[in-house]
Amino acid sequence: MRRAVCPGSFDPVTMGHLDIFERASHMFDEVVVSVFVNPTKDKALFPMDERVELIRKATKQIPNIKVTCFSGLLNEFCRQQEAKFIVRGLRAFSDFEYEFQRALLMKKIDHEIETVFIMTDEKYSYLSSSGVREMLYFGGDITGFVPACIQDDIMKRARNV
Ligand code: ADP
Repeated sequence: MRRAVCPGSFDPVTMGHLDIFERASHMFDEVVVSVFVNPTKDKALFPMDERVELIRKATKQIPNIKVTCFSGLLNEFCRQQEAKFIVRGLRAFSDFEYEFQRALLMKKIDHEIETVFIMTDEKYSYLSSSGVREMLYFGGDITGFVPACIQDDIMKRARNV
């Protein structure tokens, strides 16, 4: 079984993330999308369990995707899930340095785990969760930025913050 972990903050999940999940689902037998705490990022907008629920709803049409959350080290999670691959999305050059360092660090910690990068679809190359959060903060229209089936849930939640 070729199982991959797709880790991220997903605060909230965007069309760019969904595109990566879908493409990874064609490459692996099972993809475990996992919401992680990113200690380098400031306060989150959505609690972890809500982020998980939003991703579950947005990916329910993809049978080989499992969604969960984890608070701890990524390599430990991979071991726990018996996953040998980590999938990350790459946008502009700005992602590259950070992702390159993370991938090398992971290789140092556990040389059996391979990090695989999937290049963004150009139509989502500008898209980020932080951009969506900013739009939500100022009441902007997020149509097309997040999966349509969860757009209302995201907007409702953001209004209550
Ligand atoms: P993290 O806090 O781990 O960086 P994010 O939720 O910001 O979590 O991103 C998760 C993964 O999705 C990262 O590999 C990031 O580069 C990738 N990603 C984010 N937005 C896009 C996008 N628009 N297209 C492709 N990949 C993306």
